[in-house]
Amino acid sequence: MAEEECIFCKIAKGQIPCEMVYEDDKVIAFKDISPEAPIHVIIIPRQHIVNLNLLKQDEVEIIGHIFMVAKKIVKTLGIDKSGYRIVNNCGEQGGQTVQHLHFHLLGGRMLKWPPG
Ligand code: AMP
Ligand code: ZN
Repeated sequence: MAEEECIFCKIAKGQIPCEMVYEDDKVIAFKDISPEAPIHVIIIPRQHIVNLNLLKQDEVEIIGHIFMVAKKIVKTLGIDKSGYRIVNNCGEQGGQTVQHLHFHLLGGRMLKWPPG
């Protein structure tokens, strides 16, 4: 999918509204439009990276940054102590529906394991 048509690129550029939770120059986090838990936040790099398969060596820093952002968000939302889950769906069988690398941050209820 072309970057210009990518829904998460559009959110990152402010062309599609979102319920923003956090943003900086590299990352944006927003509430999932169809939440699977009381807290369901999507964290994305502003840069268009399709998924982990296409992550380049010079882009790896963004992954660490996303996890540090997640750490801030869970504290702000008050689920750092109760617990939470961070999920990356990759490819068809992984359940990836949006072709822009993203991490689901889920919390606010007891999560089942293993996921379906
Ligand atoms: P995945 O299935 O892992 O690719 O996750 C994509 C997620 O993006 C799904 O949980 C969708 O509900 C969510 N989503 C799709 N469009 C939007 C949107 N416009 N705003 C917020 N979340 C969205
Ligand atoms: Zn994109």
